[in-house]
Amino acid sequence: MVTSNNMRRGSLAMESKHMGELGELSVEQKASLCSGLDFWRTKPVDSLGIPGIMVSDGPHGLRKQDSEGGSKGLGNSRRATCFPPASTTACSFDVKLMRQIGEAIGDEAREQDVAVVLGPAVNIKRSPLCGRNFEYISEDPHLTGEMAASLIKGIQSKGVGTSIKHFAANNQETARFICDSMVDERALREIYLAGFETAVKQGKPWTVMCSYNKVNGEYACENEHLLRDILRKDWGFNGVIVTDWGAMNDRVKALKAGLDLEMPGPASENDQRIVEAVRDGSLSESTLDASAGRVLSMISNAQKRPRPPKNPYEENRKLVRKAALESAVLLKNDGLLPIAKSTSIALIGAFAKETRFQGGGSSRINPTAINHAFEGFEECGGNFVFEEGYCLEGDGTDLLKKSAAVRLAENKDAVVIFAGLPDEYESEGFDRTHMNLPAGQNSLIEEVASANPNVVVVLYAGSPVTMPWINKVRAVLMAYLPGQEGAAAIPALLYGDAVPSGKLAETFPVVLEDTPCYSCYATRRYVEYRESIFVGYRYYDASKTKVLFPFGHGLSYTSFVYENMVIGSQKVTDADTLKVSVDIRNTGEYDAAEVVQLYVSAPKSKLFKPVRELRAFSKVMIPKGKKKTVTFTLDGHAFAFFNVNLPGWQIETGIYDIHIGASSRDIRLSGKVSALSVGKRAPIPDYTGDAPSYYSVPSNGVPIPRVQFEKVYGRPVVASENPRKGAHSMNSTVSEITDTRFGSLIAWYIKRSITKQYKSEPREDQIRMMEAMTDDMPLRGVVNLSAGTVPSALFEGAVSVMNGHPLKGFKRMIRAIKDMRKA
Ligand code: BGC
Repeated sequence: MVTSNNMRRGSLAMESKHMGELGELSVEQKASLCSGLDFWRTKPVDSLGIPGIMVSDGPHGLRKQDSEGGSKGLGNSRRATCFPPASTTACSFDVKLMRQIGEAIGDEAREQDVAVVLGPAVNIKRSPLCGRNFEYISEDPHLTGEMAASLIKGIQSKGVGTSIKHFAANNQETARFICDSMVDERALREIYLAGFETAVKQGKPWTVMCSYNKVNGEYACENEHLLRDILRKDWGFNGVIVTDWGAMNDRVKALKAGLDLEMPGPASENDQRIVEAVRDGSLSESTLDASAGRVLSMISNAQKRPRPPKNPYEENRKLVRKAALESAVLLKNDGLLPIAKSTSIALIGAFAKETRFQGGGSSRINPTAINHAFEGFEECGGNFVFEEGYCLEGDGTDLLKKSAAVRLAENKDAVVIFAGLPDEYESEGFDRTHMNLPAGQNSLIEEVASANPNVVVVLYAGSPVTMPWINKVRAVLMAYLPGQEGAAAIPALLYGDAVPSGKLAETFPVVLEDTPCYSCYATRRYVEYRESIFVGYRYYDASKTKVLFPFGHGLSYTSFVYENMVIGSQKVTDADTLKVSVDIRNTGEYDAAEVVQLYVSAPKSKLFKPVRELRAFSKVMIPKGKKKTVTFTLDGHAFAFFNVNLPGWQIETGIYDIHIGASSRDIRLSGKVSALSVGKRAPIPDYTGDAPSYYSVPSNGVPIPRVQFEKVYGRPVVASENPRKGAHSMNSTVSEITDTRFGSLIAWYIKRSITKQYKSEPREDQIRMMEAMTDDMPLRGVVNLSAGTVPSALFEGAVSVMNGHPLKGFKRMIRAIKDMRKA
């Protein structure tokens, strides 16, 4: 047994009260601390009295699997408050609300004895198609970072840790276990990592969860540039880096890159690989000590959790409603809203009684209660009659229901239609292939609008949908996914008992074909981020593409006048701060909140830059007839870009425009400031000759040519293909190995065993997700998720057989099966 006598100083590990104890652990014990005990728990070290701790999914509530051993299924979790997912709460633009939600989740985590909540999820919404967008915050990194930092602070203020995820460039579900995200360094830093950076620096999460995918050729879990250079060195992150569940590729390489904890466990084979690497000198023991020390520190921190509150659940229900109210976005209103309570309403749509209040996958929470809009109409004392109008299955068409709804609409003063995406349309595990509502719902809206001119559409969806009927309806309220009881609050918004104040945290494109990565998305083995920094509104603005609703847009029942913009100084450097203030006057008839947005435009440069970028925002409540002054404090970072020649953040000297707006395309006031860098500088990159498309970005989803992308990417695109027949590896996926009969047999066996585990899942969308995930899973992933029941040798043998070496392969498999039996 090798024992440790070689402890590294200076890391967070030293802060652990268990640090002394690390010296008493054998290499085997330290290695075993670097993987979980089971699906949800870390390992205890009984000899030292070190307990294991439990982690559980979030991010918008808790999904604690009840069984002690930690079962793998998605259902059967303990009941917990299901807050609206991040796509919804992001639209509140309210960092205080995020903190409150965080505190509430922290209380519930304590009550359920959960030490670390697996969230927030902060990947950038590169395409509206990403199946997991409902869990993510925004297309904008500033909003993402600020909101995530607040949620983290809220949860951690209760002594419970967080795990910000999925680090990084995990912007699609298609082939998420194996796909290589090819992102140029500047886009990585300015767009895909910037939200993480803010949240890590401000929020100080206990852990960061790496993603499954590769980033520029290396799996995130073993990517030295991401984990060691950026996360640890550049941002100073000292907490635990944990794998996404089953993401581990090369254990020793990952440990060297800074990845501490492999989940789920047990991962005995990988623990053993660590021990062997220390023994043969290919891994220094101090690297293992640092990782084991960080895990112990986390366990030690978790012991400081205060006693749980008695019953946080009842109180938290109110917060769900508040969050839904603050986050719903009034997209269109030509005066129909608010509706008087006496107005006779045809209330149409199955969703009015069956809310889609959260998304599918690992974040699906088992709610403590559910309330629907229908109940909200009753609570408000509305004058309404209900018809379903469509069904929630298939494409939603139900001719009988539709004609009953149209008849009802003909006889009422106004119509409120609840429409949206059913569960099977968006979920973890697969991406959408289009942005449309079910056809049956679209045709219902069209026909009802022909029967009655006063139609309001309320939408439930985790991401943008197309609205072919937009000019035929008078109002649209985007409720996103309102959490367990948020739907019941919606009628208050329609009747004007509450005033909408949400603003879009993402652009609504007119059609899918207009989106920035339309032709470079959801490919399997690699995906080129050709649009570079032009993501979301940065793309639509630079390419002058018409949108349905811009980023930051959201209407109110009152009106706000923006006046008296004051820029605190004429000059700013990267070493100081700049104050910008503006007066907002509520000139309408309602007390209401406004989200005030500050954008910065860089001067013309040799380097392509976005037209404007969100650098600050504030949500203020202003009584009718009153005025409030909003003051923003910008630091030098608000004027900086990531200079790959440095490499680092740098301000390019020049005159910058500062805009204050009610949305990214509704700028009310502008001013100028001169900004210059007093820090490190390097020549400004100039792609005008080599990559001119980045300076006049092609509109409506037309891709930037690969040769130009390669200039910005700084290397050729090496297109890895799906493995060829005969060249399989542990990284071949279940669907890929079906090119031989033996492979098909193995694939069938894997699918059958996984399906067995999930056969208790009652939900169609969850079954669909599991099927998609299984198809896309590499063989090593199956091993990683098997809780030690499938040795890698079994599949390594199978790979040999598939690749035409049956003798060698079967021998290996038989040996593995014998070992399994013995164990
Ligand atoms: C998801 C994570 C989640 C984990 C545990 C993974 O498949 O990507 O977000 O935390 O499972 O359920």
